[in-house]
Amino acid sequence: MSKKLLPRVNRISKLFQPLNIVPKDSKPRDEASSKSYKLMVDMGIIRQSSNGMYNLLPLGLRALEKLNTLVDDEMANIDAQKVLLPHLIPSTLWKATGRLEVAENELFMLHDRHQKQYILSPTHEEAVTSLIASVSPLSKKMLPIKLYQISSKWRDEMKPRLGVLRGREFIMKDLYTFDADLDKAKETYDLVCKAYDNLFQKIGVEFVKVAADTGIIGGSFSNEYHYVSNIGETVVVSCTSCNYFATTEIHNKSSCPQCQRELCHNTSVEVGHTFLLGTKYSEPLKATYTANGKPVPLVMGCFGLGLTRILGAALEILSSDEELRWPRPLVPYNVCVMPPKNGSKEASASRYADDIYQVIEQSGIDVILDDRTHFTIGKRMIDARRTGYPYIVVVGKRSTEPRPMFEIHDLYEDKRLDLSFEGVIDYL
Ligand code: ATP
Ligand code: MG
Ligand code: MG
Ligand code: MG
Repeated sequence: MSKKLLPRVNRISKLFQPLNIVPKDSKPRDEASSKSYKLMVDMGIIRQSSNGMYNLLPLGLRALEKLNTLVDDEMANIDAQKVLLPHLIPSTLWKATGRLEVAENELFMLHDRHQKQYILSPTHEEAVTSLIASVSPLSKKMLPIKLYQISSKWRDEMKPRLGVLRGREFIMKDLYTFDADLDKAKETYDLVCKAYDNLFQKIGVEFVKVAADTGIIGGSFSNEYHYVSNIGETVVVSCTSCNYFATTEIHNKSSCPQCQRELCHNTSVEVGHTFLLGTKYSEPLKATYTANGKPVPLVMGCFGLGLTRILGAALEILSSDEELRWPRPLVPYNVCVMPPKNGSKEASASRYADDIYQVIEQSGIDVILDDRTHFTIGKRMIDARRTGYPYIVVVGKRSTEPRPMFEIHDLYEDKRLDLSFEGVIDYL
């Protein structure tokens, strides 16, 4: 179970979690095709602010911050360094790489008081390359350089949909690498892909890594990470015989190009995209290192992860129609402790709820107390199950016995146990 790591409220009565409050604009919700989107809104995880833009509420942000920590751990393992680049990028930089015209329809643009034009960044290749260019030529000894950030990105998507799945503002983790030559850049590419494989394994939702198109980001080759799900907008083909995976943009014949067997087609969500860029950005923007006394363009890679999309897609895959289920390492709180209703027969056992809470809390596990004791256990249990706390501990009828017993509802194992105080602590 993951350890507590974030400042938090510890009582549900204090938690900002607007429950089951349908948005006022009462436009038909985009929920018919996504149970997770409806649940995320109904259970106060996200709330729409405008078309394709979402407030991430405390529970949603806790999950995202846990994901950020997993990312940071993997990046530390490969010596990547975290930075934060400005969100506003002078559009002249995008002109210099030829991307301004190509991407124009998706860009949010604005002007400063001097009429200088900026792009609200949809991705940061130009910005990070210009940072490296500003300190170029680099000494070869400094290479490889691996810089990443976790920040908002803006894209004026034609069809924003399903909340955080396709937002117009979303959180991306983007890593950019700079090497001396193509061989070294490929080594770095493989190293980063291994770190991404580890990350997706830790998140625990089944994923596939596929050969992919380089699109407007460009470069010589690329891979995508996908979650197979019927809410996806991409189709991936896979060969069960030889493990060939690709998007249909790369390969759309029914037979496998490697072993000629028949391919399976699955709808999926693109959750990550890696590119071996070559010198597409370093040449025009002059990001270089010195070789034989001359400046040579650096060979780049870039590696994007849609963090808010990962969260939304994982919830869609794991949840039922009625109840959220989180990837274990991302769950906002692991345990919810429920004292009895005020004025009920078992109200005298309330103190056990505080004791259980304290012991769990001290052992470093993320725990929250559902102290809305004006509600019945039944009502609070519905909310707790829908919110998806993996373990719910109920101080109930049997907690007043001489040897008090407590209910544990284990949502991942889908079972209910009656345990003693020590039994509860051991179980958790
Ligand atoms: P898509 O094909 O879904 O439009 P993309 O190929 O345009 O995505 P990239 O430029 O590869 O996206 O960006 C890196 C990652 O950012 C994607 O793999 C995806 O996980 C995430 N992402 C892209 N667009 C969005 C969006 N509008 N909302 C949420 N996440 C997004
Ligand atoms: Mg796109
Ligand atoms: Mg794509
Ligand atoms: Mg992509």
